[in-house]
Amino acid sequence: MTFVLFGATGDLAKRKIFPALYNLYLDQKLPQPISIIGLGRGTLTHNDFQEKVKESILTFSRRLEHDAGEMGDFLEAFRYNTLDVNNTEDYQKLLQLVKQREAELQIKENRMFYLSVAPKFFDIIALNIRDSGLGATNGWKRLMIEKPFGRDLQTARQLNKKLSSAFEEEEIFRIDHYLGKPMVQNLEALEFANPVLQSIWNREHIANVQITASETVGVETRAGYYDQAGAIRDMVQNHMLQMLMMTAMNLPKKINASEIRNEKRKVMEALRPVTKEDVQTQIVRGQYLSGEINGQKVPGYKDEPGVDPSSNTDTFVAARIWIDNPFWSGVPFYIRTGKRMKEKSTRIVIEFKNSLDLHYINDNQKVEPNLLIIEISPGENVSLQLNSKNPMNNGKIEPVRINFSCEDSSRNGLGVPEAYERLIYDFLIGNSTFFAHWKEVELSWEWVQPILDAFEENLLPLHEYSSGTYGPDAANTLLLENGFKWWLDE
Ligand code: NAD
Repeated sequence: MTFVLFGATGDLAKRKIFPALYNLYLDQKLPQPISIIGLGRGTLTHNDFQEKVKESILTFSRRLEHDAGEMGDFLEAFRYNTLDVNNTEDYQKLLQLVKQREAELQIKENRMFYLSVAPKFFDIIALNIRDSGLGATNGWKRLMIEKPFGRDLQTARQLNKKLSSAFEEEEIFRIDHYLGKPMVQNLEALEFANPVLQSIWNREHIANVQITASETVGVETRAGYYDQAGAIRDMVQNHMLQMLMMTAMNLPKKINASEIRNEKRKVMEALRPVTKEDVQTQIVRGQYLSGEINGQKVPGYKDEPGVDPSSNTDTFVAARIWIDNPFWSGVPFYIRTGKRMKEKSTRIVIEFKNSLDLHYINDNQKVEPNLLIIEISPGENVSLQLNSKNPMNNGKIEPVRINFSCEDSSRNGLGVPEAYERLIYDFLIGNSTFFAHWKEVELSWEWVQPILDAFEENLLPLHEYSSGTYGPDAANTLLLENGFKWWLDE
């Protein structure tokens, strides 16, 4: 097969894609023979390009030791072609190179195109693949595209229309790298492989669900992009809603891509729409002020390089979401995501109903609810909070956490395959389970659009929060209104 990488001289290729291909190769998961063609705007010889690939692997691969022979064999698959996305002649040169390599290696015309370039190029490239003849293969073809997929409902629809004129939906793989994270992929297994959890994974037993994705970093060097996007586009429309879908979907009878995506779509269809009027009561938006993180003073968002000093961009969003189906009705899902928060953590906390007859046992002692805590990153863990008598504390009932760490898989020193490795492998074998279907993307934008409009029209306050905190107080109020609190904030 042929793997064509647009944006092969970019940052993502260097940090994630080449190391992922290399690790797949060593794990014998890269089909052989394979032709890998990198494209970029600049001029490079094939040799220079192979050196760049090697350098990126030595710097970023999860494997720390390298065998020169294996490395050499791997690099042999790589060729480079200069290509300007707008220049049709360049696509013809690319087609010649693709065909030449197919003939040399005697490989079938199975072609995959990975667009690791700025989103404004997605449609132009897809149309040129169609028009140049690159897409007219005797085998199969696939397209993988990076985020973001549009910047609102309308632009996402326009983009999809163009992509659909060059590729079928089954041929399009939309990356959401959160879906490549082991613990997100583990969510369905936790439920289907554990009858105990399966029987309580519903509104009868669950009081609320809390999904957090917090970062300690600020906008860094990405102000040009981020100031136009905000947390709502950067995190909520894609990653947060994908995690919500994976948590809330009904277990399909068969675990396969189409059934899982079908169930995810049903979750999105059941999300209670937030009207522009509701935004004030259901959504909290925030922006970070200066503060201290890990003992270091950091500037406020408005003082970051490249940020408009009068910017109203959201660096924090929290939301209360209702899923109006028989399975979840009455159970609030809370999501929150932000930059410059106290800790870097992605986690899902499921709080179970406290149905004890006696809420107060021994001396007015309040018993904590049971929690199922799924830590997605930086660690990979599942833990269950139960209550137990503490003999060291006069037999008081206290919460204890039973921890199931999944990090043992890194015992061999090779590290767990990264999200990109898993996703590229799925792309290679044509498994679309952990990619976003167009319907999911469209329904997510539909849900988010009134919030974007309300932000744009300043219909709700922009809460400031100090760097190094868990975000604005208003995000706590959102839960307090239903008698809850965010768990694990310390
Ligand atoms: P980058 O700016 O580092 O690289 C861009 C690549 O596009 C380069 O190879 C460059 O040669 C090529 N390019 C630019 N203009 C071109 C033109 N006119 N014709 C042909 N090629 C051209 O970008 P990146 O950080 O690697 O990001 C690539 C994609 O991945 C983007 O869609 C981005 O949103 C997404 N993404 C990046 C990251 C990351 O960590 N870098 C994370 C998630 C998603």
